[in-house]
Amino acid sequence: MNLDRSLIQVLESLQRAGISALPRPAQSPWHLAALVAGQPTIDVAPEQVSVKSVPLPPVHENSVSVKPLADSPPVVSPAPKAASKLTERTLPPPPQTGTTLAANPSSSEHQFMNAPVLSRAERESCLSALSRKVATCKRCAELAATRKQTVFGVGNPEAEVMFIGEAPGADEDKQGEPFVGRAGQLLNRIIEACGWRREELYICNILRCRPPENRNPTSIEAANCREYLDGQIETVNPRYIVCLGTIAAQNLLGNQTPIGRLRGQLFTYGRAQVLCTYHPSYLLRNPSARSLVRDDLQILLSAMGLDPNRLIKQQRATDQ
Ligand code: SF4
Repeated sequence: MNLDRSLIQVLESLQRAGISALPRPAQSPWHLAALVAGQPTIDVAPEQVSVKSVPLPPVHENSVSVKPLADSPPVVSPAPKAASKLTERTLPPPPQTGTTLAANPSSSEHQFMNAPVLSRAERESCLSALSRKVATCKRCAELAATRKQTVFGVGNPEAEVMFIGEAPGADEDKQGEPFVGRAGQLLNRIIEACGWRREELYICNILRCRPPENRNPTSIEAANCREYLDGQIETVNPRYIVCLGTIAAQNLLGNQTPIGRLRGQLFTYGRAQVLCTYHPSYLLRNPSARSLVRDDLQILLSAMGLDPNRLIKQQRATDQ
């Protein structure tokens, strides 16, 4: 009896016993993986030799690729090209490095860029109206309840350079003018070392009310007060802005970068070039940082077409 005849006899006896086909093997994970990858799959026992090629299902944007399990036989099949392209398309863009304000200006920066240039009388009138509005502002309930008065800003309404600090302290709250305490006196010396007079510039803060215990302004308070800061920037229309300290720099530029990384370079904000440097209060606590502030201001003087060495000369003259 040859092998074929034996096989026929076995099949005939199975049919007589009511068994018409051999059972299908249970589907395993590697079987599913082969289906997704379009590999030929063995449908029944090898003796039945029923080999089918399962067509590749269409790749849909939401389809999930099925990976073979670790203990499954490897399925060698190149990744479908459409799926590769899809992966590339859906990858998030690489993170941006550095501050690119000019490429992504905020709405207030747009406002500043498009604001009309006003006469001196118009600027005085606008600043006066804004100051009256600030005097009655109660947007920050805690600050409005604890302040002695609001501290709007002082200086030349046509200033080429605007200095922006953080918030009023106890002395400023008392006198109603920014930078009049010890830090203010140091700022005056820095301004003089640059060859300017305080009244030539415009000086204001991110906040117009003193935070209790001189704590840092909250982001909500800074947002509340932004309208007034924007109004002052638009009206004075400075060509250069100096941000004094982290709070001023981060709020104006809209980022979270530490001052140590913002200093030493110029940024663009609307029509103005912006220099960030350390706050005079920080210099009072860390005198060694004064040379860094001098370096920063020399960058500003150079950008303004002024001799950066005048700062050193002035400083020497003041020290003598
Ligand atoms: S800090 Fe500014 S927004 Fe807040 S209450 Fe004072 S003036 Fe108003």
